[in-house]
Amino acid sequence: MDTALRELAEAATGFMPPEEGAALHRAAARVPAGGLICEVGTYCGKSTLYLAAGARSAGATVVTVDHHRGSEENQPGWEYHDSSLVDPRTGRMDTLPHLRRTLEDARVEDVVTAVVGRSEQVGRWWSTPIALLFLDGGHTEVQAQADYEAWVGHVAPGGALLIHDVFPDPADGGQAPYHVLLRALDEGFREEAVTGSLRALRRVL
Ligand code: SAH
Ligand code: MG
Repeated sequence: MDTALRELAEAATGFMPPEEGAALHRAAARVPAGGLICEVGTYCGKSTLYLAAGARSAGATVVTVDHHRGSEENQPGWEYHDSSLVDPRTGRMDTLPHLRRTLEDARVEDVVTAVVGRSEQVGRWWSTPIALLFLDGGHTEVQAQADYEAWVGHVAPGGALLIHDVFPDPADGGQAPYHVLLRALDEGFREEAVTGSLRALRRVL
């Protein structure tokens, strides 16, 4: 991976350990030229930079979807709240300005398109086949399942599905992404790689 881009990704605000980011980059770099990578759950664009680096070398494009209001666990009073991401005008979370700075500083605005909206809404009007789908949005059971349902049908035959924050042992973390993994394995995907909590699957049916 491009060194400057890797350093910016590692320094960016967000939730993507370097090793898992490297795995994201590898998967993105394997996408066919002209292919589309879709990320659900942008936050401030940390994981987006790993995908963008891979997309650039593959000749692919990244679309990243987020309403930029934060997940449940990002809200004030919750474990993963960052008060520097609050819009002082309204008191609500707003990660969009931070994302724009991340993309601008890394000079990847030519490879990445940010879509601002609810995942399940955008998934409903979406129609382009996706070569790599990365699920990293809301982690409640309802939201994780809704994201899977809204997007999985758009994954191209032979396309990749990456799921973040998969913890088979409840002692390590929430179970919703793990349940999504089990569902995908049951619905035409085969697992190809495990890197920390990141699972990489391929559509075989
Ligand atoms: N991939 C990021 C982390 C994503 S955190 C990184 O590498 O750092 C999860 C994100 O999902 C949050 O930014 C939150 O706003 C978003 N999210 C949660 N529910 C959503 C929904 N229904 N629609 C769109 N985005 C959602
Ligand atoms: Mg995550």
